Amino acid sequence: MSKHPSHRTRFSDSSYYDEVCIYCGAHDEVPGGWGRLAKPCPEARDQHEISQDLHDLVKAHFNEPVLTDFQVGRIIGYSQDAMDCYMMIRYPNPTKVIHHTMVGGYYFLDRLKGQNLVISTQGEEWDDYFRIDNMLELNGCPKEKEFLLEIDNWNYIVYNNTVRG
Ligand SMILES: [Zn+2]
Repeated sequence: MSKHPSHRTRFSDSSYYDEVCIYCGAHDEVPGGWGRLAKPCPEARDQHEISQDLHDLVKAHFNEPVLTDFQVGRIIGYSQDAMDCYMMIRYPNPTKVIHHTMVGGYYFLDRLKGQNLVISTQGEEWDDYFRIDNMLELNGCPKEKEFLLEIDNWNYIVYNNTVRG
């Protein structure tokens, strides 16, 4: 007998049980084993359920610079867990990836296109968007080839502010 993987448990400080499911409230028994946690979770969510609107929004800004918490990074993907939806952002100096909550605290920078535009002697168009993009390129945040996607609804992982490579 073991815990059924469809439950999403957190640890508890109750003296009667150690783990309780955040969906259905089932818990193990101390002593006595897994109790109702051994059976499939009646409130389990679809593993592949994805917040399509948020995903599409992030994808529309793929590889763009984004401002968060007074720092500029590059949007490289979308992730989701049981708790929240996130924009995956790579930051420079030192290079790190943060899963930033979609709830707020981020500013897309595509509106800077065309601002302070000059044409270089080689005929290249340099605007403020290009300058920030270029700054990221030069500091360890090149554009990604593919949009990253991490949907991990079975595992209770809070990505927010977690450094993952
Ligand atoms: Zn459950």
